[in-house]
Amino acid sequence: MTINVAVIGSGPSGFYTVDALLKSGKDVRVDIIERLPTPFGLIRGGVAPDHQTTKKVARVYEKTALSDGVGYFGNVEVGRDVSIAELKEIYDAVVLAVGAPRDRKLGIPGEDKANVFGSADFVGWYNAHPDFKDLDPDLDTDTVVVIGNGNVAVDVARVLVKTDEEMTETDIAHHAHDAIQASPIRDVYMVGRRGPIEAKFTNVELREMGKLDDCVPVIDPAVLPDEVEGDWSDRDRRLKERNLATMKEFPDVDPTGKSKRVHFTFYAMPVEILGGDKVEAIRFERTKVENGRSVGTGETFDIECGMVIPAIGYFSEPFPGVPFDEQNGIVVHDDGRVGDGVYAVGWIKRGPTGVIGSNKPDGEQAAQQIFEDIADGSKPGSEALANLLAGRDVRAITYKDWQIIDAAETSSARPGAPRRKFITVDEMISALD
Ligand code: NAP
Repeated sequence: MTINVAVIGSGPSGFYTVDALLKSGKDVRVDIIERLPTPFGLIRGGVAPDHQTTKKVARVYEKTALSDGVGYFGNVEVGRDVSIAELKEIYDAVVLAVGAPRDRKLGIPGEDKANVFGSADFVGWYNAHPDFKDLDPDLDTDTVVVIGNGNVAVDVARVLVKTDEEMTETDIAHHAHDAIQASPIRDVYMVGRRGPIEAKFTNVELREMGKLDDCVPVIDPAVLPDEVEGDWSDRDRRLKERNLATMKEFPDVDPTGKSKRVHFTFYAMPVEILGGDKVEAIRFERTKVENGRSVGTGETFDIECGMVIPAIGYFSEPFPGVPFDEQNGIVVHDDGRVGDGVYAVGWIKRGPTGVIGSNKPDGEQAAQQIFEDIADGSKPGSEALANLLAGRDVRAITYKDWQIIDAAETSSARPGAPRRKFITVDEMISALD
């Protein structure tokens, strides 16, 4: 009998799992269950709005979604509309592909002041994720501090300083675009607790910072070593050499006519966010790197600013009905097997690292494990879920519905932009009625 699988989450790890299940050639049917009406997870809500080429991978996912044997239940939240226990009754296997939507916390005093936003929230806001529509950051400031030296920190810094024209061909949320373009931001500090060699951003992203229309990268040449030292793999060494070469070019970027600066600041760890109810400055302790770790030197300095965005990594949320490892922010699993017909893929399994393609092996492994563990299907699948949701008056969104929402967004785009994103779930549903 057909093996019925539910994949919870429609981001890259979810789609690579569906794809691997289909490619197995086995008698299998897969339903994708997604909390939002819109599919694609971080491709829509995380990848920077000016990185449209990266978002093109959604076309591949679309082919998968439209394949025979695949169903899509959007606007269905597991834990609210249907429980995991019920899904286990309906499906032979349930795959968790729900990512890591929470922000890791700095754990320093002042972190709860107004205008301090974790990057997951801030990126969600400028990417029109419905959860963050009310974030309402106050961008009436000339200085923003972004904490972290990863690709998300670079994304946030870049989106804050790009011009209206540079953002034309993007799908940035219109409310965020208006707020950022109206903002008097002049200086963005991107602060790493370790040095330029330890920074985690990749070279393509770093180089973009030297090619902005109205912004120059500022870096103290004294912090740049002559060459990459330390014990790195060949691959990492090559990446770091490229990054070092790029950073060495930054002081030569001509600042003439450019009104904004992104300051690459290293060897500084945040110790306190200062101000009244709202952030007014942030205090850092200078660091040195010993055995690869940042170590405080006791010397502190402050940067005055009106907004702080920690971009220090993501964290998964406990998933209702599934054991959670609070320490590591992932689901408890044995190489992807959560147990009792449940499997995990992507960031809820591995933690928030790697690029989009890093999720592919997870999907392949989950598919293999499912077929190892389940020889024959015995559960009803799709129709049973559709009936259960209908009985609860849940408005499940099909993939065809999403295509209508997609067409409505595309047709209302500004000239040059790929789409104008809806901001609320209600707006998306209204587009169908
Ligand atoms: P990340 O690459 O892990 O970077 C996190 C940064 O935060 C690091 O610089 C880290 O410093 C710093 N940090 C962590 N805890 C800190 C603390 N308590 N105080 C100060 N700094 C702290 O994470 P990410 O930028 O969120 O990116 C997540 C993943 O998505 C990465 O694999 C990334 O490459 C990927 N991504 C890729 C793209 C792209 O390809 N364009 C875009 C966005 C994201 P240490 O190094 O010292 O720990």
